[in-house]
Amino acid sequence: MNIHEYQAKDILERFGVPVPKGIVASTPGEAKAAAEELGGTVVVKAQVHAGGRGKAGGVKVVSSADEAEQAAEAMLGTNLVTHQTGPQGVPVRKVMVAEATDIADELYLSIIVDGDAGVPVVIASTEGGMDIEEVAEKTPDRLFRVAGDPLIGLSPYHARDIAALLNVPASARRATAALISNLYRLFVENDCSLVEINPLVVTKDEEVIALDAKINLEDDALFRHKDLAGLHDPEQEDELERRARSADLAYVKLDGGKVGCMVNGAGLAMATMDITKWAGADPANFLDIGGSADQDRIEEAFRIIVSDDEVEIILVNLFAGIARSDVVAQGIVNAAKETGATLPMVVAMRGTNAEEGRNILNESGLDITAAPDLAGAAETLRDKLSGAKGGAR
Ligand code: GDP
Ligand code: MN
Repeated sequence: MNIHEYQAKDILERFGVPVPKGIVASTPGEAKAAAEELGGTVVVKAQVHAGGRGKAGGVKVVSSADEAEQAAEAMLGTNLVTHQTGPQGVPVRKVMVAEATDIADELYLSIIVDGDAGVPVVIASTEGGMDIEEVAEKTPDRLFRVAGDPLIGLSPYHARDIAALLNVPASARRATAALISNLYRLFVENDCSLVEINPLVVTKDEEVIALDAKINLEDDALFRHKDLAGLHDPEQEDELERRARSADLAYVKLDGGKVGCMVNGAGLAMATMDITKWAGADPANFLDIGGSADQDRIEEAFRIIVSDDEVEIILVNLFAGIARSDVVAQGIVNAAKETGATLPMVVAMRGTNAEEGRNILNESGLDITAAPDLAGAAETLRDKLSGAKGGAR
């Protein structure tokens, strides 16, 4: 789960990571009052679950309360489009008004879970403020990685090493090492999957503070952080992914694919995406309807798939164990009739009540082609796609 910058900064503060003083505002009037309270030059920052705001007009440095009001007015109620959002952008409902900082140097600091090593890894770079992907690509030697230990944590000497690698002024070394240790503690204690400070800045007064903050919380650990779960902002999520989440479906929209995939089981869903590729097409989504999917969930899954305008054909791949093929088939037929969806479907069903499931589909009058198994589904998909595209693929 993603949270907003102002929420992330609250957490940073609680863990002793310095951040600029800031006030959240939902109206231009509130932004003006906030700027008056802070006094002097402030920055107005759109609060959205996406980075790249600076380049997209979502971060404005202003020198008066009136200008802060105008900047907030221009941002609030709009959709901000950055290189990290889709073309429709994400809605700006709040801005953060923060004390402006005199920047001497912009650094990069993050912590992620390294899935291969199974440990949290601190990533640091002197090249802050820009896309870290670009740094990784063009100047990989300026990225440092230091692994923590699940039992010991991050050793103080590691934190000092990182502070040294970041090349902060001597007067700020000790505070930077403490900041890194605190950030690591924050990461572990809140079950984060990502904490990213970009930029971490050295001010003209040689102080080191987090100018930006991004925190991702591990969904599967949220049950033990009830307070953090409340920070969820569904408005910032992709509409279809949000619907899928509330129906308890594991769904990820993929760019550029035409084949809507409906599958039970995460492993089978991965395999289905592979055979889709093998058939010469791209999957439009990952979708796991789960092991014990009832009819309502199947119907919602189908509605979500056909709500994606890019989908031209649906591939249903079911290995019915606890789930029953007839229930899935009936769910598909109901949802197809209700939505008026006429997309062709390739269906492979095996396992519990597969025969009944196939009968329901065959008698539905929908454009359905049955396939015997996974490989057969790929062949059928390939035939269908080449037919639809006049032989080319
Ligand atoms: P992002 O673009 O969404 O990552 O938003 P950031 O919070 O990282 O801000 C983008 C850039 O705006 C930073 O890299 C800074 O260069 C600049 N910026 C943000 N806050 C301040 C500030 O208080 N003072 C100054 N001078 N620049 C700022
Ligand atoms: Mn940033």
